[in-house]
Amino acid sequence: MAERALRGSRLGAQSYENDNGVEMAPRQSVSYDCPNGHRFAMPFSLEADVPDVWECGICGSEALRVDGTRPEPKKAKPARTHWDMLLERRSVKELEVLLAERLEHLRAGQGAARSASRSRGQRKSA
Ligand SMILES: [Zn+2]
Repeated sequence: MAERALRGSRLGAQSYENDNGVEMAPRQSVSYDCPNGHRFAMPFSLEADVPDVWECGICGSEALRVDGTRPEPKKAKPARTHWDMLLERRSVKELEVLLAERLEHLRAGQGAARSASRSRGQRKSA
């Protein structure tokens, strides 16, 4: 019984407003450079994990964050591209082999499809 009362009073007494950011959180303006020459700024909370890329509102391209405009650079993490992530899993040598296999497979598949449609046509006309 005593335990229950404690739990109830805790819920009412504790305010979650600050945690929820209902009060205005300190803001920073982060600028992004679009590969097509557009530059725009996005407002972020100082505590927010600011992304390195943001979709350009004008053309939809992936715009990169302009470094140095942030008031306090917490972590200097270089933007990882898809290529970087790929290289973490595969070496260029491996990729070349995979590409060669893939091309071979594609050529073989095209050849098979062509001969299949040809034989189907023959069957129809016969
Ligand atoms: Zn753009």
